[in-house]
Amino acid sequence: MADRPSKTLRPRTTLVHGGVRRSQYGEMSEAIFLTQGFVYPDAEAAEARFIESGPDEFIYARYGNPTVAMFEDRIAALEGAEAAFATASGMAAVNGALFSQLKSGDHIVSAKALFGSCLYIVESLLPRFGVEVTFVDGADLSQWEAAVRPDTKLVFLESLSNPTLELVDIAGVAAIAHRQGAQVVVDNVFATPIFQRSLDLGADVVIYSATKHIDGQGRCLGGVVLGKRDFVRGTLETYLKHTGGALSPFNAWVMLKGLETMDLRCRAQAASAQALAEALEGHSSIARVLYPGLPSHPQHALAQRQMEAGGTVIAFDVAGGKESAFRFLNALRVVLISNNLGDSKSIATHPATTTHQRLSDEAKAHLGITPGLIRLSVGLEDVADLQEDILAALEQA
Ligand SMILES: *Cc1c(COP(=O)(O)O)cnc(C)c1O
Repeated sequence: MADRPSKTLRPRTTLVHGGVRRSQYGEMSEAIFLTQGFVYPDAEAAEARFIESGPDEFIYARYGNPTVAMFEDRIAALEGAEAAFATASGMAAVNGALFSQLKSGDHIVSAKALFGSCLYIVESLLPRFGVEVTFVDGADLSQWEAAVRPDTKLVFLESLSNPTLELVDIAGVAAIAHRQGAQVVVDNVFATPIFQRSLDLGADVVIYSATKHIDGQGRCLGGVVLGKRDFVRGTLETYLKHTGGALSPFNAWVMLKGLETMDLRCRAQAASAQALAEALEGHSSIARVLYPGLPSHPQHALAQRQMEAGGTVIAFDVAGGKESAFRFLNALRVVLISNNLGDSKSIATHPATTTHQRLSDEAKAHLGITPGLIRLSVGLEDVADLQEDILAALEQA
């Protein structure tokens, strides 16, 4: 009983109603189909389903499940993608999007500033299987221009990047990549589907860690890959269904309900992030504030062109290096010390000693990960409480 709203509905409506499949009971809230298998009325039906299954015909939960399909259809409708495949985590999505379409001898180009596990896949795993990788400074279009070759299979990037919130000009990179016939794969986690429409900007494949803003309340791991139907239901689904990266129906249900409030949450969090960035800029204990919504951000003009808001994360350098940064973190009373982001609870991270600890000092310096750098994921608390907490903690720095 697929019941998909037409494409003309606005994003916030799509996030509430998209992809709903109601059972014969007419339940209001989406059902959790906590089943790994499905029963066929007869042998002929089983045979037919293995030849070709329709959108509401399932075989095995590793291949698909009604609750998972509701999540996939809802996020696909929001993103304006032809299809989506949901995965057990964001990394299962990145793994699937890359490994499903690469083989030994292929060449790819990747931005250097990547989430740690993404960097591991691109820098260590892919070369082990004979894939040649060229790294570029993602913000510099001339480097993309020089690196993409006629035999380049795909380009991979994150915009905004973690943790220094650099942008990549997605339309610019897509023009370069498409001239050479390469696919553009974008990890859109930091920018969120609310603020950056990567497919409209020219991306072919978009990836999310649903663990972040989609859940948004720190409960479940999940991920999703979106793109053209041929790719998602063909190359990608074949790879993922046989390698076991499927999202559990329960986690899909949590993500589905998370989507219902995601637009409201992301907008409230971004408004607070903008206010905090403005309040912190110029503070005597802070050497620099990085936030795409600030006119001082080196790519502010691109951010205004490419994004609807500056996002929910800000980064800033506490003057005095690691000792000051630790004193600041330890003095926080509302903001929590952790490493997740996109959560309703505000979270402060010290990238140099946690998420990016394994990088060499040289690599950290190159990525702007200084000893005093703090990444702040802004939550849903009253922004006045956040500001008081941060300003009071800066007094201790
Ligand atoms: C968190 C994150 C991932 C990985 O997602 P998991 O759900 O933790 O596997 C990938 N890319 C970016 C940019 C992330 O922030």
